[in-house]
Amino acid sequence: MLSILKGRAIIDYFGDKRELSSGFENIKPGDYVVAQGGIVIETVPEDAAKEILEAWREAFFRLKSADEALLLKNSGNEASAETKTIIEAALSGKTLSKTDVQTLLASPAADLAFICSAANTLRAREQGNSACVHGIIEFSNFCASSCAYCGINAANPGLKRYRMEPKEIIEHTVDVSKRLGFKAIVLQSGEDDSYDAKTLSHIAKKILKQTPMLLIMSIGERPIELYRELYASGVRGALIRFETSNKSRYSKLHNSPLEERVSLIKELKKMGYAVITGSLAGLPGETADDSAEDILLSASLSPEMHSMGPFIAHRDTPLKDAASISLETYLKETAVLRLLDPKKSILVPSAFETLYGFDAVKTALLSGANSMMINLTPKEYGGLYSIYPGKQHYEEVSADVERKLSLLNELGRAPTDIGIKV
Ligand code: SAH
Repeated sequence: MLSILKGRAIIDYFGDKRELSSGFENIKPGDYVVAQGGIVIETVPEDAAKEILEAWREAFFRLKSADEALLLKNSGNEASAETKTIIEAALSGKTLSKTDVQTLLASPAADLAFICSAANTLRAREQGNSACVHGIIEFSNFCASSCAYCGINAANPGLKRYRMEPKEIIEHTVDVSKRLGFKAIVLQSGEDDSYDAKTLSHIAKKILKQTPMLLIMSIGERPIELYRELYASGVRGALIRFETSNKSRYSKLHNSPLEERVSLIKELKKMGYAVITGSLAGLPGETADDSAEDILLSASLSPEMHSMGPFIAHRDTPLKDAASISLETYLKETAVLRLLDPKKSILVPSAFETLYGFDAVKTALLSGANSMMINLTPKEYGGLYSIYPGKQHYEEVSADVERKLSLLNELGRAPTDIGIKV
């Protein structure tokens, strides 16, 4: 921790300055902290901190120069004059207008490499080479909602439902965090009222007592009081997508008004949560203007992290025959999001990997994205959390950790959320 000035806390990480968003009430300049998503989750005694930093130093600078070398390698592409003008402005610090966003999205296919490479440059400049690698545990596939795109919706009678017991959630979360080093974990479920505020708070407190981490809830539209209680219990992250910025499409697919979901997201942000949000890209009927609005809404909600998932049709839903968007369109949207909102993390969601394959993850990480999630749901439930088909499950979580770390290593990115050797 370097300084606190006018409510802003700045930390130093091998010379990089990073701003904290909250959790620094009880720390002072000179203290050493572990922070996730801009939130302090643990203070570390000076000796232990110096030891950790020393062990990391060589790897940190090696990774940084690998990232810089790749930036140079990917910088030689050409593009149309219109695209170049907008990109130049974005790289010199100008905020993209709605027209800029629309123009980039509609730019010729041949401009894609140029746009992605610029987004990667901006990622490196504004976010450095840090990569968040969060774990996700899907603890219940019961859901009270009937979202037309989602395979675990209440109206799917064919799905075998499961709920993890509070004790099992606590033990499993603590176990994976301790064993694999995860410092940020998402607990996700359908909208399942059987876990009330008291139960979820109990789960959070027990987990956090045994292992400090950024605990992120992804439980949908639950009452604001419940979220307030969870915050008081130490939960600091909320993953909740707005799905689409198109009001009529949203209410058709979701059976409720978009305003409710968006105002919940804003409330959570106000409450102090690190928010992860975004759209479901490529929902049937989506127009180019919708995609632009989705990107603009995501940025205007000012989340810690953007999570834009590609829609994948599920056979047990009303949208079963709908196509997904192309990899090129998805990459362009990711890059434009980065150009619009340079300072925030952008996730490569699991659905992306399912749809386009693991090799494409590398391309996304070179197009402005910088974070990944690893599925940590216990094996016996994994296949049942089928929000979309073909969700990848690994016999061994550690194999997935290994290949994601080796990809980050290859790209010169430093995983900031799992304390692993690189
Ligand atoms: N019930 C919670 C969280 C679980 S669903 C909520 O509503 O927030 C998590 C996310 O899965 C959803 O926000 C949605 O964006 C995504 N999802 C649902 N169906 C999908 C599909 N068919 N393809 C890709 N992603 C999907």
